[in-house]
Amino acid sequence: SKAKLFDQNTEVKTSFKDVAGLEGAKEEVQEIVDFLKNPEKYTSLGGKIPKGALLVGPPGTGKTLLAKAVAGEAKVPFFSLSGSDFVEMFVGVGASRVRDLFKQAKEKSPAIIFIDEIDAIGRARGKNAMSGSNDERENTLNQLLTEMDGFGTNTNVIVLAATNRADILDKALMRAGRFDRQIFVDLPDVRERKEIFEVHLRPLKKAEGLDLEFLSKQTPGFSGADIANVCNEAALIAARQGKKAVDKQDFLDAVDRIIGGLEKKNKIIT
Ligand code: ATP
Repeated sequence: SKAKLFDQNTEVKTSFKDVAGLEGAKEEVQEIVDFLKNPEKYTSLGGKIPKGALLVGPPGTGKTLLAKAVAGEAKVPFFSLSGSDFVEMFVGVGASRVRDLFKQAKEKSPAIIFIDEIDAIGRARGKNAMSGSNDERENTLNQLLTEMDGFGTNTNVIVLAATNRADILDKALMRAGRFDRQIFVDLPDVRERKEIFEVHLRPLKKAEGLDLEFLSKQTPGFSGADIANVCNEAALIAARQGKKAVDKQDFLDAVDRIIGGLEKKNKIIT
């Protein structure tokens, strides 16, 4: 069978406008956008453009979205794969996939490579890592390190990786010239939740006078992904009842439903 090697998007439409809140993180990745657009400006005084940055934060907070927005803002292609695709892979497949990914990105450079759930391949290596262990995950990780060390400073490919467990990553990944920058992507506070609601309410037919401040206060602990879910769910609830617009009650019902889902999920985990 022909497994998909990785995703490639040469015309990313996502921009910083799609990413609500996350002011600090956006400021930090703005620098990466500038590196991609104007590499000469930065290397003219002898400095080296960073090769990688780690986006660290809880699930659903917009790490993938932010990485995509970097590509969209810089107008460069976006290559992505997920670390979880590498579990239980045949020997050699993971490493060759990483090799292909970097080869393609270099050919299309400037470009962004995004590795979601990097912890699945980047967990700290076992004690027997040096004694010829044949673990495929380790081969994949080693290939990733080799690729990052291999591309020269003039390649202009920047690798972004996402994790919610920076603490379990192999320290080798964080060494200078690899993922030597960490960008924190946290759960939104009440003000940021309001901004996220604004983004996800854009495509909805909403009732007059919908109070976003109220909705933001009703959703403590919600991630951006949860809020996107609430908005979609509310629109479906309203439509099911034949309403012409989505109103406050629909949102409250949607919030209840999402909270119910979150509670169930947590029950399974604990
Ligand atoms: P995971 O760690 O689970 O992969 P993530 O941090 O990569 O999560 P995304 O996949 O980027 O999260 O977010 C999922 C969806 O949630 C986005 O496509 C978007 O619709 C919504 N979302 C999350 N954060 C934000 C945000 N800050 N602004 C607007 N929408 C957001």
